[in-house]
This record gives sequence, C-alpha cells and structure tokens, in this order.
Amino acid sequence: MAASSMYRLGIISALQEEQQGLVEAMQGAATHIHGRRDYTTGTLWGIDAVCVLSRIGKVAAAMTATLLVEKFGVSHLVFTGVAGSGGPGVRVGDIVVADYLVQHDMDASPLFPPCEVPLTGMVYFAADTDLSTRLAQAVAYFVALQLPSAIDDGEKKLFGLHDVKVHRGLVASGDQFIHSAERIAGLAHAHPGLLAVEMEGAAVAQVCFELNVPFAVMRTISDNANEKAATDFLHFVQAVAAQYAFYSIKRLCEQLAAPVNDD
Ligand code: SAH
Repeated sequence: MAASSMYRLGIISALQEEQQGLVEAMQGAATHIHGRRDYTTGTLWGIDAVCVLSRIGKVAAAMTATLLVEKFGVSHLVFTGVAGSGGPGVRVGDIVVADYLVQHDMDASPLFPPCEVPLTGMVYFAADTDLSTRLAQAVAYFVALQLPSAIDDGEKKLFGLHDVKVHRGLVASGDQFIHSAERIAGLAHAHPGLLAVEMEGAAVAQVCFELNVPFAVMRTISDNANEKAATDFLHFVQAVAAQYAFYSIKRLCEQLAAPVNDD
C-alpha cells in the first residue's frame, strides 16, 4: 500500500526492546546513522514513518526529537515507553497517554517559578489533543481485543495484568529514575493529578512546542517508582511493554492510513 501523504510519523522509544518489533515490521526500511543514533525510515501499515531510539534522559530525547523534525521531516511525533506510577489509581501494566507534561526537575527559582521553563512562561506543556485521542483509542483497542492473546498467561500472572486501564492526564519527566516512595509522593503532591513519572516525555513536549509539531506520549507503567522500581524492569519491558507499544502503534497507523468511524 502507498504511504498516506498526510503523515510522516516519527516514533521515538527510549529503550531498544520497545522498538525492535516496529523496525522489523517496516516496509522499505532504510537506516540512516546521525548523531550516534539509527533512524530507520520506511512504511508502517500504510504510514510513512521514522523509528529511532532516543536513549534515556531529557537531553537525549530533545536531541532526537529535534533531528526527527529538522533532518527527517516528520510531521507528527509519538513517544512510546515505560514509566513509574504517579498515583494510587495507576497500576503496573496500565497505560498512560499524556495530556500534559512537566519537567519536574526544572527549577530556576527564585528567578522563575519552580518547574517553569524559563522564558516560555510555561510549566505544563500540552500534547496534541487529536493525536493523543487517536493514540488512546488505539491503546484501548489493543487492551480490549489483543492483549488477552498477545501476552503469555504466565507473564500476565507474574505482573498482575488484569483489568488493565488506559489513563489520560499529567506525566512528569526528569533526569532521575524515581525509586523512593517518599520522592514519588512529593512529586504527586507538587503536581496534582500526576499519573506517571519518566525521563523523556516533557523534553519532547518542549521541543514540539517550540517547533510547532503535534506529538503524543504513551507510557506503560512498569513500576511504582518506589524502592522496588528496578526489579524485573528489563523482563517487563521485553514481555509486556514491547507488546503494548507494537500493537498500539500498529492500530494507530492503520487508523491514520484508513480511518473507520466505528470506534
Ligand atoms: N534499568 C534500565 C534503565 C531504565 S531507566 C536499563 O538497564 O536499561 C528508566 C527508563 O524507563 C527511562 O527511559 C524512563 O523514561 C522510564 N522509567 C520507568 N520507570 C521510571 C521511574 N520510576 N522513574 C523514572 N523513569 C522511569
């Protein structure tokens, strides 16, 4: 199928395991190395796409997002990854699609309010509503129809994957892996409505704000950002988060390429 001309979708993940399946599924794949990253261009389910691993942290993510836009000409950007839970209603295995993102470690006070990105006047950066809604619908489709067979029963049991929920709301990013109950409680207190904490999303949000590019962020909850956060992390990414990302992006691309009105 020819790629739809409306979209050139940039897909960023922080970790290799999260993106392997997508790169393998690309038609006409070609890899371009730039700035120590591999950008793979091609077609994903009818959508012109560019996949790249940002690696971990805000600078890595900001650089990758900028190059996707400026060098690879993407029109829309989606970030897939994992995150720690930001609140009691958000469980391991749930998915958060960001409506807003904040850099929780930005602090130029007293010159600027805490978490305000200096000279933008902004604390909370909004994701693109339309793309985020389409992504959330794709995630919900995966959860309802494909998750039951896409993930082994053993893994479902191990990670307690039942009654999986899709949340939308606030995601906080910073250059820290949060692994303390006290610390995550402090972040949740500072940012009411916090759903997830990770290390890249808000950096992508700032770049997309400044370059005026629509973007969306999906995060599978891998841990509770407490003292046990690092346990089984890689196993979770491989067995669970990679499947979530693959099927959700597949559905998103199919819907962007040939939208149907029945969901
Ligand atoms: N143990 C991993 C390191 C992962 S760093 C390894 O060896 O590769 C954590 C990655 O997952 C980051 O990309 C971040 O965005 C996300 N993440 C998951 N849980 C997190 C948490 N509790 N705090 C911050 N980032 C988290």
